[in-house]
Amino acid sequence: MEDLKNFNLKELKNIIKELKFEEFRAKQIFDWIYKKKVLNINYMKNIPLKLKDELIKKYTLSSLNIIKIQKSKDGTQKILFELLDKNKIESVLIPDNERITLCVSTQAGCGCNCSFCATGKLGFKRNLNAAEIIEEFIRASFIKKIDNIVFMGMGEPLLNWQNVKKVIGILSDKDGLNFSQTRMTVSTVGIIPVIKEIAEENFKFYLAISLITANNDLRDRLVPFNKKYPLKEIINISKYYNKKTEKEITYEYILLKDINDSEHEAKDLAKKLKEIKCKINLIPYNESENSEFKKSDENKILKFQKILIDNGYKVFIRKEKGSDISAACGQLAGK
Ligand code: SF4
Repeated sequence: MEDLKNFNLKELKNIIKELKFEEFRAKQIFDWIYKKKVLNINYMKNIPLKLKDELIKKYTLSSLNIIKIQKSKDGTQKILFELLDKNKIESVLIPDNERITLCVSTQAGCGCNCSFCATGKLGFKRNLNAAEIIEEFIRASFIKKIDNIVFMGMGEPLLNWQNVKKVIGILSDKDGLNFSQTRMTVSTVGIIPVIKEIAEENFKFYLAISLITANNDLRDRLVPFNKKYPLKEIINISKYYNKKTEKEITYEYILLKDINDSEHEAKDLAKKLKEIKCKINLIPYNESENSEFKKSDENKILKFQKILIDNGYKVFIRKEKGSDISAACGQLAGK
């Protein structure tokens, strides 16, 4: 049975019309789902019984079950969901001062196989549909009020772009949740054709690219997708994105001890990103089970940051959050 959250308001109006009910019923249903966050068709009080019966025959409103919620000592909460086909995914609620960011998964597993990432080790299971991603948001919002959303959990969002795009449209719809796109960030390892499409459409969300290293050969090893879309193309598409959108790009750089954290690497990065409007997030590596990599030493991280700052970049060191419950960047493994 298809989930009604897979449809935007326009599509929902067509469904209601086909069922031979008045069009305004679609807006009422949309209201129940996104303003009142009701995930059961039976609970929609002002919808005629006959319409509810018709909908229940063909559609559902619930695609996920919460299996477990783990709380880190820093307040981060990891939610383990089971999908109807028994695949497992995770979302993470990350507190930062008074604000809460929700990190959502867009795929069950991931086929990109980045060597530093626990999700990559799972392999690709399947794309999540729009309803499942939206439900991660709705169910997480029952736990905490969400201020920002990042599409950065399990999976490569731009390899499931049609569904992610639909989610962004539905979440930001003024008739729905009215969650501004300016509070959303989409992260990618660099799927060039989709970045081009994003640059050419009028989206308001922010783009983050997991760069990891400025050395193309090393990137081939750490981020296998680099063989398809090499660093040089990522630099070129970044310039195109800047020009088309006038927005800066965030580069994510996970610091791996003695792999990509040398002064030489920092200088090379500064040189390669010259002319790109960007900011750089340095992420100390979060070690996970059986991981071959180690976290960089603190003084090395600070030195790396200083070199970039001296070269005129805005550079932030991301605070480690939720690593004690394997909820930090690169640690999600659906356990
Ligand atoms: S870092 Fe992202 S793209 Fe790479 S394997 Fe992990 S989830 Fe997939």
